[in-house]
Amino acid sequence: MPKKYDTPLLDELEKGPFPSFVTEMKKAAAKTDMAADALGQLERCFRDKKTHWKHGGIVGVRGYGGGVIGRYSDIPEDFPNVAHFHTVRINSTSAFFYTSKFLKEMCDIWDKHGSGLTNLHGSTGDLVLLGTKTDQLEQIFAEFSSRGWDLGGSGSAMRTPSCCVGPARCEWANIDTLDINYSITQEFQDEMHRPAFPYKFKFKTVGCAVDCNASIARADCSIIGTWKGNIAIDQAEVANYEKKGMNISEEIVGMCPSKCMSYDGKQLKIDDANCVRCMHCIAKMTKALKPTGEKGATILIGSKAPFVIGATLSWVIVPFIKMEPPYDEFKDLIRKMWEWWDEHGKNRERIGELIIRRGMREFLEYIGVEPVPQQVKEPRRDPFYFWTEADLQK
Ligand code: SF4
Repeated sequence: MPKKYDTPLLDELEKGPFPSFVTEMKKAAAKTDMAADALGQLERCFRDKKTHWKHGGIVGVRGYGGGVIGRYSDIPEDFPNVAHFHTVRINSTSAFFYTSKFLKEMCDIWDKHGSGLTNLHGSTGDLVLLGTKTDQLEQIFAEFSSRGWDLGGSGSAMRTPSCCVGPARCEWANIDTLDINYSITQEFQDEMHRPAFPYKFKFKTVGCAVDCNASIARADCSIIGTWKGNIAIDQAEVANYEKKGMNISEEIVGMCPSKCMSYDGKQLKIDDANCVRCMHCIAKMTKALKPTGEKGATILIGSKAPFVIGATLSWVIVPFIKMEPPYDEFKDLIRKMWEWWDEHGKNRERIGELIIRRGMREFLEYIGVEPVPQQVKEPRRDPFYFWTEADLQK
């Protein structure tokens, strides 16, 4: 029987209306020594008000530079079953579609070789297996790879790309997010498994600007589906929304960020030339409004959580690009960006930070993208592109 620890501080986290990870850890702790010691050590961390996990170290499987995150206890004499407690990242499927057969097999493998604790999904997107020993890693990898599964990314590498559910379940997807995600994963295998970048690089693909994967806040490269045509309006459905109690002037017209809509109580009008494709009106009136015309994506660069500088959102680099298999134009553009980042990036400097440090002008010139108004983020405060005499004579 696994050892049972008193956890008065962790018990507090089970109170309140939300599901608690402590409850789930306790279930696992009743079954395995490793999960029991993980719970005991976590309680100790809370009691001592400091972490007892040592992070990092060179640990992994043969031929791979990432996919396993080394973690050790700094008090192994008290918690010997978590002396090693490595995390294994499994490359997730596009939009997290799994068969129940796979999930059962995955759990069986993990019960056999690890703590039984999982995290579906980590914020990186991977299927995360929490806690195993160094001597188990090759066996875990053999079990997964023999079934066609692979490790995800970690360290200074391309991280496992992720995407929204896209056309699999959403009629508003302007691009095939699942296929793009899969294609990026296959194309850049080397960049994912053998870390060679200055720091991490994340792709997130979403079908429209509703951005169900929060790509604009969490990805070095956000790929956001958009359209070129007008928004088709079904005026009868607009009237229905109003009949059902929607205040169209306030909730739709008043919230349009580019103020390109008007409503006189009978007709909704959109000045499509000034629409920024934010999706607000369409998401609120799904039956009345619909994008039309050519579909593609906007490519944005540079979002990340705080590190060298504070949190940043991605900003537009390419306002519109066709996204059709095999996505060569997009992939060539990414290779150029990586070349420039590889050449100039400091250790642990994200590509967005490098653009801020060296300037958008140099970045755009290197990747061969013309400056366009959509790239300007804050025009009055920092016009980041400066034209030279030569530009003006073109
Ligand atoms: Fe306005 Fe956004 Fe609707 Fe365009 S998509 S009309 S910018 S609310």
